[in-house]
Amino acid sequence: MGQALIRSTWVSPRPYLLYMKPTDRCDARCRTCTRWQRPSRAEDELTTAQVHDVLARFRDLGSTVLVLWGGEPTLRPDLGPILRRAKELGYRTSMCTNAGSLHRKHAEVLPHLDTLLCSLDGFGANHDRLRGVDGLFDRVVLALRTARKYERIRVKIWASLHTQNVDDIEPIARLARDEGVWVEYFPVARVPGYNDAMVLDADGLRDAFGRVLVLKKAGYPIWSSASSVVKVRDSTPMRCNFGRIALQVDHRGHVYSCEDPDGTPMHLWGRYDQVDWAALFASRAFARAREELATCGKCRLPCVVELSDGLFPAYAAMFWQSVTR
Ligand code: SF4
Ligand code: SF4
Repeated sequence: MGQALIRSTWVSPRPYLLYMKPTDRCDARCRTCTRWQRPSRAEDELTTAQVHDVLARFRDLGSTVLVLWGGEPTLRPDLGPILRRAKELGYRTSMCTNAGSLHRKHAEVLPHLDTLLCSLDGFGANHDRLRGVDGLFDRVVLALRTARKYERIRVKIWASLHTQNVDDIEPIARLARDEGVWVEYFPVARVPGYNDAMVLDADGLRDAFGRVLVLKKAGYPIWSSASSVVKVRDSTPMRCNFGRIALQVDHRGHVYSCEDPDGTPMHLWGRYDQVDWAALFASRAFARAREELATCGKCRLPCVVELSDGLFPAYAAMFWQSVTR
């Protein structure tokens, strides 16, 4: 893995993080995200064989980490075979889920996962209100407990922060501690015309991520490094590396460098089976896209902040985290 990272980042720059949406459909109704409003049909999605083909092609091209998201990935009936194939190919596997139906699918999914990210935007009834699904908070807790039984999985709560949940920061940290899982907080990204009133301004970020930092220093299981929490707290400008290290594949097999918070692709390159990827990664167009995205600033997801600016210190910090936790 380490050699692959060095090669794909510096020697022959190629994305090593493959973000894949096996589906664009979603069964939640979140107040922060419009993806559930988009018309999306299972018939338009890649078949199981095509998803396997995507995984094999990009593994050959240097991808080493697979992150499944969506939409809600557990809506795919073949999620188990997809993850099993990814492990056979040698990926580290990760999945972000609203956890609404994970308790029904854990036996086919969790044995093939290295990291599980369960979204949690509020504590108790506030989570259900913000996600528009009754009983979802209880199902997230059930998913955390179920996943903890698979000892090899790193389990994290993924908590987006905004104006309607800052008072839930501490209860969520306590939940993480009590359930024996990690938590990562990040500011919700603006979806213009939809969640503007929820987005934290500079004062709101200072307050919310100041609270996160206090909890981290008090020993709560907050995964993010203190330095990345400080960056978000202080609205420090950052250089995003995702145009360099990550690639996105959507449910139809379209490949692009990143996407707006409303899901619009940025730097759409073509279908996974219709582009000479090795040539593209070496091209001036790809280099220009990397540079353009470096100053994008549209999101502050935990992984994005952690891997921002100079990559060598970021990798060193990640290595240190992995050996000390
Ligand atoms: S945030 Fe996730 S769970 Fe909520 S609507 Fe968007 S894709 Fe669905
Ligand atoms: S800052 Fe922009 S380019 Fe970087 S991950 Fe976020 S949306 Fe993508």
